[in-house]
Amino acid sequence: MVIAKGRAGPLRRYHPWVYAGAIAEVRGHPEPGDIVDVVDRRGNFLARGYYNPHSQIRVRVLSTIAQRIDEDFWAERFRRAAEARSRLFQITDAVRLVNSESDGIPGLIVDRYGDFLSFQVLTYGIEVRKHLLVELMAGLFSPAGIYERSDVGVRALEGLEPAKGHVFGEEPPPKLEIREGRAKFHVDIRSGHKTGFYLDQRENRLLLEEISHGKEVLDVFSYTGGFGVHAGLGGAKSVLFIEESAKNLRWAREHLVLNGLSELKAGFVAGNAFQELRRLYRERRQFDLVVLDPPKFARNAAEVEDALRGYKDINILGMRLLRRGGYLLTFSCSGHVTEDLFLKALIAAASDVRREAKILRRLHQAEDHPVGLTFPEGAYLKGFLIQVF
Ligand code: SAH
Repeated sequence: MVIAKGRAGPLRRYHPWVYAGAIAEVRGHPEPGDIVDVVDRRGNFLARGYYNPHSQIRVRVLSTIAQRIDEDFWAERFRRAAEARSRLFQITDAVRLVNSESDGIPGLIVDRYGDFLSFQVLTYGIEVRKHLLVELMAGLFSPAGIYERSDVGVRALEGLEPAKGHVFGEEPPPKLEIREGRAKFHVDIRSGHKTGFYLDQRENRLLLEEISHGKEVLDVFSYTGGFGVHAGLGGAKSVLFIEESAKNLRWAREHLVLNGLSELKAGFVAGNAFQELRRLYRERRQFDLVVLDPPKFARNAAEVEDALRGYKDINILGMRLLRRGGYLLTFSCSGHVTEDLFLKALIAAASDVRREAKILRRLHQAEDHPVGLTFPEGAYLKGFLIQVF
């Protein structure tokens, strides 16, 4: 693989993707998924990675030295990634063990939920090595069972169909119990969102627990109640959950019971958050703390503008429901919306509702979702704790 003139910069700075347009020449006849070397025009080695002629990202870099990509290589990457998470197991038994590019294994996500692993394959280069990688995970991490959750549309960009199913050991139970700080949750590895749970919000849920004492809390886009349960454990006076899926709401209700919070004053509204927040405003309801954790509004660069309008709108609706001095815990998980753009949407929202507001904390995805310094694309979740007057 010979890099085109003037296109070696990102690789030299260790960015792990080589786009189609950056390749001047393909030497030999590499098959999809094969290990290839990327060289400059003089033939100097730049990087080694796996190849996919059907993807715009033709090569994903595995190493910037000419090392063998064999079983030991993958095992070492797994060990290094898992080692970096070891401290987290004091807090939780649900942890992202492998975060794709940022852990040197582009295209692979591996999450541990108690005794089970749930993983996602996003690229062809990983797909062709799946059996080896599953075997290594089984040996290194000793799970009771391993489940694949590659049922995601982005695989089409690599020429892959969605796939899911049980691949090793025991079948996961339909409700796998995990702990997160003082909280317990049930996770459905087979059909829960992502690989089962929003592990990326762990630190922010724990933060909510710290600041919820005595507060009336509104948990919007609540999924199975992660934020609201932590608010309850932190001594919230009440929690109102808003979520469009009635099934997720039922799980949220069960989670309160599971956490000994059946006495908590709680409400559950199944519906569209935008409409429901408007209705609460018309009913003159007020809260001390509003959590907004919407789904991804922008899937690509073209959708960023619409997404920003969405973020502004939902934050207007959230801010209007806050008492003076109340707190807004607000997030965006759209990778294409930068922290800066998201903040601009929040500034516009505050200005529209004529409320003064200040940032108390800037928030990000949890530390088991690291972001490679040379891979800014890995940063997708950002949020703010804002006090609104
Ligand atoms: N806060 C949750 C994760 C939220 S994910 C946690 O910590 O676990 C976003 C959730 O918003 C999903 O559960 C999805 O079903 C829900 N959702 C998506 N669009 C919605 C809408 N318009 N109104 C209400 N809920 C919505």
